[in-house]
Amino acid sequence: MIKFWEIKYAIKCWWLRRKARKAIPLGSIYEDCSGHPMVAIRHDFDGDLTGVSMFTGRVGCCSYWHCGPVPLTYKQAMEMVRQNSKV
Ligand SMILES: [Zn+2]
Repeated sequence: MIKFWEIKYAIKCWWLRRKARKAIPLGSIYEDCSGHPMVAIRHDFDGDLTGVSMFTGRVGCCSYWHCGPVPLTYKQAMEMVRQNSKV
């Protein structure tokens, strides 16, 4: 028997993921909460983002809802990488 709150939760997750996908599609670049430009590779079921850092190549997870990642253009990201490699 499926309970009402389970349906509500499923709809909420679907909605959150839909919004996150629209704001930051897979393959696009965003700035995560540690200030790294990241390439989005995965959206989790509740709207969390998994991405690869363009600084370190490390895979990191960021919450779209709690961290507030900022979408970046390719140009902005390349500028950040350039600045970072200078230091
Ligand atoms: Zn984060």
